[in-house]
Amino acid sequence: MKVGVYIHDGFTFEPREECPYYWGLDEYERYLDWLRYAGVEIVEACQQLGWYRYPTLPQELDRLRARQSLVGASHARDMAYWQILGANLNSRLPVDQAPPGQLDIRESDCTECPLEDGGFLRTAELGRYFARCFRGADAFEVFAGDWGGCGCGRCGVDQYARYVQYHAEHLAQEQPAAQVWANVWSISSWQKRSEGSAQSFGDDRWRKMWDDEIAFSQQFLAALDEAPPNVGVAFPLHHWYRGFCQRWYREDELPFWPTIELLEDLHRRGRPLLAWTHFIVENDPYHGRLWGTLSVRLRYLRQLCQMLAQAPFAAVMGNVYSARQALNLYAFTRFVRQPESSVEQVLSGFVDEVALPAGRALLFDLLVYLENRDPWHDDMPEYRRLPALPEAGLRVDQLRQGLDGLATQIRRDSPLLLNGPDNFVRTLSEALALSESG
Ligand SMILES: [Zn+2]
Repeated sequence: MKVGVYIHDGFTFEPREECPYYWGLDEYERYLDWLRYAGVEIVEACQQLGWYRYPTLPQELDRLRARQSLVGASHARDMAYWQILGANLNSRLPVDQAPPGQLDIRESDCTECPLEDGGFLRTAELGRYFARCFRGADAFEVFAGDWGGCGCGRCGVDQYARYVQYHAEHLAQEQPAAQVWANVWSISSWQKRSEGSAQSFGDDRWRKMWDDEIAFSQQFLAALDEAPPNVGVAFPLHHWYRGFCQRWYREDELPFWPTIELLEDLHRRGRPLLAWTHFIVENDPYHGRLWGTLSVRLRYLRQLCQMLAQAPFAAVMGNVYSARQALNLYAFTRFVRQPESSVEQVLSGFVDEVALPAGRALLFDLLVYLENRDPWHDDMPEYRRLPALPEAGLRVDQLRQGLDGLATQIRRDSPLLLNGPDNFVRTLSEALALSESG
């Protein structure tokens, strides 16, 4: 199983030098070096949603050109490059203004109805334009939604299948070496949105949405034989590992979907399979207090990788929004390759890579402490929570004290710390403060 990451660059945050939204090619070259060193074999990107339109502004063209260069820059580092194509995306933000980050725009400004006024052709052609911009990519993934989809009540999964078919056909002609994936992420966005969508984390409508993710994916799979034989299927696996999904189910209700039998059957029928497990390496800003600080969730990364190893996936795609999650990224690639490694072994491996001998014991203890208090753990329903790591003798006041001098005990040249020792220790401090504030 190959290991990749989706390098999402749609969110804005400070400091800007750490934020991919603002980067040009030089910054991306360093980022790719960091990813490669961490063990990543595939890099994936997407034209961000406000920018999902034909570019005309100088800064828009510059941005696109830098990202086009990622195809060659990834190949030069012996990594594959994949590009995401949306279904039903067309940014209608003012054409004379550079679009803001994703937190400052609305989905309705970037989607339309494919059944109305030539919408399908307009949005599908735009996807083809971006496929051409990223000529030479090793794969293209056609996403069902988030953003995308249409809740008009007439559109359904058949419209998503139409986008898959459309892109598979032109890619077979224009870029025949590229693999095509249908990713059923957020496929329930193709249902009628009559009652409004779930907003707060306590909203019962989330349960329906998770159930619908399965039901709509099953609808898509039932008609899969109509898709060209080379189209692979990418599964988000929400019900396998995400607390945000699982917490809406009692233990005896939680479905295990897709089942291993289903995956094996698809594999036998010649469909390549991809695990597209977003949020496991890093949470997005919509998850409030989980965003922007160092996250340590090796127990859950290990558990997921052990599950993935049971199924015939060709690859797994994690996610990064920044270089702040050096530890989770390192652990993700290690556990994919060696799912039986212990959490302590992988933690030690990371600590040896980034800390000088004098700082190793303290850093290890700090990371154990954070692992046991990571918000990902709190997000899980009780019945899915994993036992804490042993921490006999750990005292938080001593950890806090030790943090003051820790940056001098971190290697300045560690390829795993793209943002350097001071910024790494800054995120450690933030994570410690977060764990203390509950
Ligand atoms: Zn529609």
